[in-house]
Amino acid sequence: MDYQNLLENIYYQVKNQPNKGELATYIPELARINPDKFGISLQFLDGQSYNIGDAQEKFSIQSIAKVFAFSLAISLVGKEIFKRVGVEPSGNSFNSLVQLEYEKGVPRNPFINAGAIVVADILISNLKNPKEELLLFIQKAAGKKIEYNLQVAQSEKSTGFRNAALANMLKSYGNLENDVENVLDIYFHLCSISMTCEELATSFKYLCNGGKLITSDERLLTLSQTKRLNALMQTCGFYDEAGEFTYKVGLPGKSGVGGGIIALYPEKFTIAVWSPKLNVKGNSLRGMKVLEQFTTDSQLSIF
Ligand code: GLU
Repeated sequence: MDYQNLLENIYYQVKNQPNKGELATYIPELARINPDKFGISLQFLDGQSYNIGDAQEKFSIQSIAKVFAFSLAISLVGKEIFKRVGVEPSGNSFNSLVQLEYEKGVPRNPFINAGAIVVADILISNLKNPKEELLLFIQKAAGKKIEYNLQVAQSEKSTGFRNAALANMLKSYGNLENDVENVLDIYFHLCSISMTCEELATSFKYLCNGGKLITSDERLLTLSQTKRLNALMQTCGFYDEAGEFTYKVGLPGKSGVGGGIIALYPEKFTIAVWSPKLNVKGNSLRGMKVLEQFTTDSQLSIF
């Protein structure tokens, strides 16, 4: 199949439609992004790779980074992690306080904010320099230097009242071991990672490749952990729209409010899309369209 041609067709078809949706505006760094940015990177495990549009421009990957943090945490503590965070879709907004209270401080899954805050706590308890080591893990996956955007981390902190409330509630239920402030510092830095579509598609290859880096064969996760990560992305990776994404696209993946989406087909390929305008559920509107069209035209969906 001529994937470059296929991607170009989809790209221009979507680009020629009105650019609907809204930018995330809770921090200035996201509110002032050019809403017409649009990039796609498709990378097969056998080395074929295709970029189109703004695929080499950095953007804020936001919640997509929760997948890296959870990968590192499960590689450190194994199944124990599921005593402190569940594996069910939340059916509520990603930053719900009500649900956390009903469920006595055990977050539904590691990709809602409360879950990622528990994961940040686990990293602090198990690593000497959690912020640096988390970044090293991401750099290993990406095969190159990746950085926190310190301005974004600061903005996350200065607007993060709800995340502070979640962290305090977790602490009150005994589900945080470390100081709330230290845990939030890791969480806000996690949200601030910047990557390009190309870097994102490369860095998710370990989840496509049974847990091993494609470049060196080094294992980041066991096969079983990789299965669980992909299953969690499938059921919980798209805020309160994971059902819709599964139904329309049919691949495991994760989105972020910066307008990025990563999706993958185990053993075959990863695909990253970036377009900053979001639908009402917080997922990139054009990103969803591109991926639906891609799995339809290529017939490469896992279902
Ligand atoms: N940084 C946002 C927050 O913590 C979440 C980002 C996202 O969902 O992509 O509220």
